[in-house]
Amino acid sequence: MALNLVMLGPPGAGKGTQAVRVEQERGIPQISTGDILREAVQAGTDLGRQAQAVMERGELVSDALIVEIVRERLARGDTRDGFILDGFPRTVAQAEALDRILAGRDPLVVVELSVLDQALVERLSRRRVCGDCGATYGAGSGAVPAACTRCGAALVARKDDREEVVQERLRVYREQTEPLVAFYRDRPSFRRVDGNQAADAVRLAIAGAIDAAQAAIRVQSSPAV
Ligand code: AMP
Repeated sequence: MALNLVMLGPPGAGKGTQAVRVEQERGIPQISTGDILREAVQAGTDLGRQAQAVMERGELVSDALIVEIVRERLARGDTRDGFILDGFPRTVAQAEALDRILAGRDPLVVVELSVLDQALVERLSRRRVCGDCGATYGAGSGAVPAACTRCGAALVARKDDREEVVQERLRVYREQTEPLVAFYRDRPSFRRVDGNQAADAVRLAIAGAIDAAQAAIRVQSSPAV
């Protein structure tokens, strides 16, 4: 069965960090809509110009725009054995669109990473990203090195990790993204994982949650005897 995974959770919950680990362990691509948008901003494309101001305010880019990006990305062959969506869907409309995009493919596994609000604000104020390759440091329990350990470039704070923007992003999360928990909660493949633990403990909990979710999918899709 392909692992079609959605990582759900507020900004700073560790979705990106954990998504990269699942990518390494399972050999399926991590698809971060935030990364795609930041790359477009850096490259100065039309998409980047449309998204930049919205992102710097901590708001969401339009559903239509982001759904098209994801539709194209999921049409690529490297997602055949699965993928990890990080930062998408963020609204119920996006989640509905995702179900339509995936019609005929294996069911989604949805893992919600839950982390206390206070810890989110602390993590985001500590987070630094590589100005060149985009690697992220310090968002989980990890330390922040002096420079990027992957490519050696300088580390910077994300513009939207400033305190006032963080508050807006958390507000937007509560208002627009948290309703997705109710949208997915009744599916047998939905799992909640406690993200208030060391990154390695979270990684193990996610691995267990994925296995349990896929077992539940198998039970549901096997013919009744
Ligand atoms: P992230 O790196 O996931 O925190 O995303 C950074 C920013 O990109 C968000 O605050 C939004 O402005 C934008 N963004 C990323 N993913 C989405 C999405 N699925 N829908 C709308 N906006 C998004």
